[in-house]
Amino acid sequence: MSIKNEYLAGLMERVKQRNPNEPEFHQAVYEVLESLDTVADRHPEYIEKGVFETIVEPERIIKFRVPWVDDNGKVQVNRGYRIQFNSAIGPYKGGLRFHPSVYEGIIKFLGFEQIFKNSLTGLPIGGAKGGSDFDPKGKSDMEVMRFCQSFMTELYRHIGADTDVPAGDIGVGGREIGYLFGQYKRIMNVNNGVLTGKGINYGGSLVRTEATGYGLCYYTEAMLNDHGSSFRGKTVAISGSGNVAIYACEKATQLGAKVITMSDSNGYIIDKRGIDLDLIKQLKEVERKRIKEYTDYHPEAEYYEGCSGVWTVKCDIALPCATQNELDEESAKTLIENGVIAVCEGANMPTTPGAITLFQDNGVLFGPAKATNAGGVATSALEMCQNSSRHPWDFENVDKELKSIMENIYIKSCEAAKEYGVEGNLVAGANIAGFIKVADAMLAQGIV
Ligand code: NDP
Repeated sequence: MSIKNEYLAGLMERVKQRNPNEPEFHQAVYEVLESLDTVADRHPEYIEKGVFETIVEPERIIKFRVPWVDDNGKVQVNRGYRIQFNSAIGPYKGGLRFHPSVYEGIIKFLGFEQIFKNSLTGLPIGGAKGGSDFDPKGKSDMEVMRFCQSFMTELYRHIGADTDVPAGDIGVGGREIGYLFGQYKRIMNVNNGVLTGKGINYGGSLVRTEATGYGLCYYTEAMLNDHGSSFRGKTVAISGSGNVAIYACEKATQLGAKVITMSDSNGYIIDKRGIDLDLIKQLKEVERKRIKEYTDYHPEAEYYEGCSGVWTVKCDIALPCATQNELDEESAKTLIENGVIAVCEGANMPTTPGAITLFQDNGVLFGPAKATNAGGVATSALEMCQNSSRHPWDFENVDKELKSIMENIYIKSCEAAKEYGVEGNLVAGANIAGFIKVADAMLAQGIV
């Protein structure tokens, strides 16, 4: 696909000029704008009132230094970011990423995508993202704590339970959220739902830990069912071995599939008998070790260096759950040759544009991240409900709500694609459905 509408094509050029050296942000904006040709044709008011122009510009970019002291008494300085992209339909909401690759362009791409993802959930949450180039890997708990406290010592003034509610993402799990929350509470002297992904015993929601991975599988199952298929009996390849990957593996297995691969940033394992998920949880969630060590416990499993090789493993369903642009055209060709029937994104933007086109042109069912991984933020919004009402829900209720939200996202995306003449294109459907709700809310609130 390409951007056919002249106005949108011009806007894309302006986005590139105004945000130089941010290829991930350009990629994310391009993917949305190319889906909106018909929307722009049918809704001239969005062009006249500058909605497209406004939506690609963050409401606010916050960038700050994060000084902290390491275990050797040496001062380290990282950069922190919070990009509050769009608050038309609710308070800003989106995760924090701690990874050495973080810079403004990464946070912008994630914040932009978050607007449409949050809109698709049907819940009242705006889009934001934040993070730092801090790398928690190899740091002691105390170093991570000191970093988080310093990060929050600046961030606290920009967020709030009704303003902006951050959550986790790559490198930010329960440990980091705990330290961040503790510091916010200390500074503000309030105990409210300012962060989500909290521990269960201090305001967290059941199912939040599992939500993105479970939600990904609920969406994938709905899509497969709609095409006369299901997870049952299928072989699944998953990349990553973090929060999303682990719970995608758990739910896919519960739904009757066999997951045979997982990976980390060093390499991947193949276990043809099915991944031993308890071992992965122990290695990754408890001991914070490398996936390579899986073969110490299961010598019959295989380990290979490098991440992209995970897509050479023959499978029916592929769930990329590690990071952006991890599945390129070459990997897509191999998956297609190996007979893959469905690819659903657990990570944000893990599939390159060329690879998406290959899947779509070859009849592979393709579910885009904005829709498929929205279960995490949706459950975060349910955590906000529970915090506001001071009434925790049980596991079954949250899980039921999550499943229903994911099935609705699938249905909404299909309906939007059909209404706008691109039936079956779930990428365009998700972008259109997510965009229209936000665009109408922006129009209703006037130009500010
Ligand atoms: P985690 O930090 O828990 O896990 C990330 C996993 O991906 C790890 O296995 C990590 O390996 C691997 N990984 C990270 N960077 C790279 C890289 N550059 N190359 C190869 N592998 C890499 O993060 P999450 O599971 O939370 O997030 C994974 C993806 O899902 C991200 O794209 C995130 O934005 C997205 N997402 C997460 C949500 C959530 O609720 N957590 C919600 C929606 C989307 P290693 O340990 O070696 O670094």
